[in-house]
Amino acid sequence: MKYDVVVVGSGPAGSVTARFAAESGAKVLIIERRQEVGVPVLCGEGVSRKIDEWNMLEGKRWIAGSMDGARIYSPDGTMVKLSADMAGNETGYVVYRDIFDQELARQAVKAGAKIMMNTTSTDLLKDNDKIKGVRAKQFDEEFEIEADIVVGADGVESKVGQWGGIETRLEPKDLETCAQYTLTNVECKDAYCDFYLGKEIAPGGYAWVFPKGKDVANVGIGVLASLSESGMAKKLLDKFIANNPRLKNGEPIRFLAGAAPVASPVETVRDNLLLVGDAARHVDPITGGGLTCCLEGGKIAGETIGMAIEIQQFDQETLSVYEKNWKEAFGKKLKRNYLVKEILLDFDDKTFNMLADSLKDYKFEELSTLSLIKALVLKHPTLLMKLRPLVKISSETKE
Ligand SMILES: Cc1cc2nc3c(=O)[nH]c(=O)nc-3n(C[C@H](O)[C@H](O)[C@H](O)COP(=O)(O)OP(=O)(O)OC[C@H]3O[C@@H](n4cnc5c(N)ncnc54)[C@H](O)[C@@H]3O)c2cc1C
Repeated sequence: MKYDVVVVGSGPAGSVTARFAAESGAKVLIIERRQEVGVPVLCGEGVSRKIDEWNMLEGKRWIAGSMDGARIYSPDGTMVKLSADMAGNETGYVVYRDIFDQELARQAVKAGAKIMMNTTSTDLLKDNDKIKGVRAKQFDEEFEIEADIVVGADGVESKVGQWGGIETRLEPKDLETCAQYTLTNVECKDAYCDFYLGKEIAPGGYAWVFPKGKDVANVGIGVLASLSESGMAKKLLDKFIANNPRLKNGEPIRFLAGAAPVASPVETVRDNLLLVGDAARHVDPITGGGLTCCLEGGKIAGETIGMAIEIQQFDQETLSVYEKNWKEAFGKKLKRNYLVKEILLDFDDKTFNMLADSLKDYKFEELSTLSLIKALVLKHPTLLMKLRPLVKISSETKE
């Protein structure tokens, strides 16, 4: 088997990369170890409306609900309301991730890509250290797939980067372990994604309630692996649900456990190799949301691959156009949010309560560092010292 490009993984990052590479004229194969694209779902299914600008998904079947915004609850229950525009990566739509992923895969195929399901990549295929494709296994059959470019789109547990000499291992402080129920019999009349903060609720993370219909919601929790023991995410989630009057009568129709990288992005190119999506650690380190980066980064990767195929050059320098362009598109934000994550980890519940109290009546349309500081100083001047590192980062990055 010989292709221009083999993409390992049919998640959103893999499918979008495959689509844009195929549209640029490359012969593309996606291999996927699962038996159905997008199943099982491992996601809260919240995504920013920013994805509308990219026009990558046809129709509306992938949308479970359109959100008006987000509500953030501090440990003492004070609520801060944000519009969908202000609320960041996970608010805008709640989607059906299985349909969402399958629609992106359909678009890749429409552009000319092929997909092999039940097919696991077991290693890179190399000739004297030069990457020539992947080794793969489908049921009991092992075989080689030759390709000029291999794309590691193999998610949070990515192996492709390691095989190609890129350090992708995650330390516990850079990994959120998550558990989520889809609950029915939950009142969801408001189209708001809810986020709950607090060391007791979710150490180093948060709990969420994302409505998926009038009486169905994804209710989940993410905790930092360095601050929790194995199995703690589910225990804390059960406790959170039992203590929440809106949720306690809910009945589960789905359960999932998974992990999200909350690390700094890694290097993403080598000769004949590219990493995209979670495999590249393209995830917002504050929220754990990765879908927007999958779409934006996947498009940049696919277009770079198209260019490389056209000039028949697959070395790191040629492919580094991808790295340069994703850094420009969202790299600065990921880097900044990683620093912000580290600072927020030092905040105690009292600080989050004071922050929420300062911001609960704040008009977020006027959002600017200066107006925020004003709001904080007026209510809780002592916060200013704690927030100094955040203000410094925000003025350095001008965001
Ligand atoms: C509980 C939870 C909730 C989340 N909620 C949100 C949210 O609300 N909003 C948001 O934006 N993000 C969320 N995320 C993160 C989001 O799910 C990921 O960022 C996104 O799925 C990354 O897409 P991807 O294409 O990079 O990888 P994935 O979607 O993980 O796809 C990788 C694919 O590669 C396949 N694969 C892996 N290894 C191999 C191999 N060796 N051979 C062949 N195939 C292979 C896998 O089977 C999989 O299909 C959440 C994550 C978790 C765990």
